[in-house]
Amino acid sequence: MKRILIIEDEQKIAELERDYLEMEGFEVVIAGDGNTGLSLALNEAFDLLILDLMLPGIDGFNICREIRQHKDLSIIMVTAKGENIDTIRGLGLGADDYMTKPFNPQELVARVKSHIRRYDLLTSKRSQQMSEINIGYLRIEIDARRVYVNDKEVVFTTKEFDTLLLLAENPNIVFEKGTIFERIWGLDSIGDLATVAVHIRRIREKIEVDPANPEYIETVWGAGYRFKKSNS
Ligand code: CA
Repeated sequence: MKRILIIEDEQKIAELERDYLEMEGFEVVIAGDGNTGLSLALNEAFDLLILDLMLPGIDGFNICREIRQHKDLSIIMVTAKGENIDTIRGLGLGADDYMTKPFNPQELVARVKSHIRRYDLLTSKRSQQMSEINIGYLRIEIDARRVYVNDKEVVFTTKEFDTLLLLAENPNIVFEKGTIFERIWGLDSIGDLATVAVHIRRIREKIEVDPANPEYIETVWGAGYRFKKSNS
């Protein structure tokens, strides 16, 4: 059974979300403040997190940042009316999706399902293929979703990992930003092509010795990005 954590201080909203998700067969845990929520998210296994932005204790911004440093977990960030969703997205917290309250609970359920389905699809497709990619000083453990640079583990967010893997599994093929966005974020997602560029930059900072002169992910001007295999 898929487990979902809701971190939300408005009890009525949290219970409404839980009821709809339970009707769809999800197991749901609610945390009413930031500190409890963060500790649950870090210490227990969940498939997805629904995270309210303004919370007593640690707020949604810091929870998101903290989780991204330690865990690969899909996050739907929920904001109150009046909080500018574009500004929040622009902060680059790395949530997978954003919704503004009040929203239709059925829409939330639909998005939860779509994120979980996408995650399952990506992981199951991989397990049928090779389990590890080794190129130069870079090693990607596909099933474990871990990345090592010179045998030192580097922490990746869900989307950064998915983007790197898409490119690394298809070396020497040029991917346009639009294609990457479609494959990793899905057509129904909110966001734009700048998101792709931001993720590529972060990946380079993590895997490249000199991110300004990348050895792995090459920019093909006017076309997109290509993973070079020549240094293997
Ligand atoms: Ca709140």
